[in-house]
Amino acid sequence: MEMKQFQAESKRLLDLMINSIYTHREIFLRELISNASDAIDKLYYKTLSDGDTGLSREDFSISIQPNKEARTLTITDNGCGMTKDELENNLGTIAKSGSLNFKKDNEPKEDIEIIGQFGVGFYSAFMVSDCVTVVSRAYGSDEAWKWTSRGAEGYTMEPCEKEGHGTEIVLNIKPNTEENNYDEFLDTYTIKNLVKKYSDYIRYPIRMDVEKS
Ligand code: ADP
Ligand code: MG
Repeated sequence: MEMKQFQAESKRLLDLMINSIYTHREIFLRELISNASDAIDKLYYKTLSDGDTGLSREDFSISIQPNKEARTLTITDNGCGMTKDELENNLGTIAKSGSLNFKKDNEPKEDIEIIGQFGVGFYSAFMVSDCVTVVSRAYGSDEAWKWTSRGAEGYTMEPCEKEGHGTEIVLNIKPNTEENNYDEFLDTYTIKNLVKKYSDYIRYPIRMDVEKS
């Protein structure tokens, strides 16, 4: 499959994420939940303005599913989803590279401060993941696309199957190292606490099934 390149600025931000000395890696979950919520907002407001979509507020939710055996953490929403072009444009380029501009202007600042002050967005997933897969189907479309990346070297795209509109993000959680415990991001108790700590303000239900073992 063809490997596509990230836009140069995106690659820089990705490198920064992957090699970050930043210790608050846990904020990736806040970023992904906030994107899921934004995507639901988008579709929800569309339903309000278009009227007859057949969707109501209660239909929307976000789900978080850890799988210790597979070492995956899956974040799913039934929001607006992304077309093929949107997947490539939204995840392959940085529209608002606020954090990068900030870094240029204030070079001596530590990464930690930059990431603390600005939302780092989707790429923060790479702080805890070897590989990130995004399966998405745009509302109103009958085709779904899969975007996969292992980091700065690029990403691949392929058509796939997906029931219903929305986005599913599968993180392949990194193995533990001597310095870093990544296992905790597969632990339901830790995840619950992170949701409470960072995502309490989200206005849609956030669900997590207890892992069957
Ligand atoms: P921001 O949220 O500040 O725009 P992000 O890096 O977090 O930046 O996300 C980049 C873009 O990718 C978003 O603006 C949105 O268009 C798209 N995106 C990310 N996650 C989702 C999602 N779950 N559903 C739909 N679009 C998404
Ligand atoms: Mg975001």
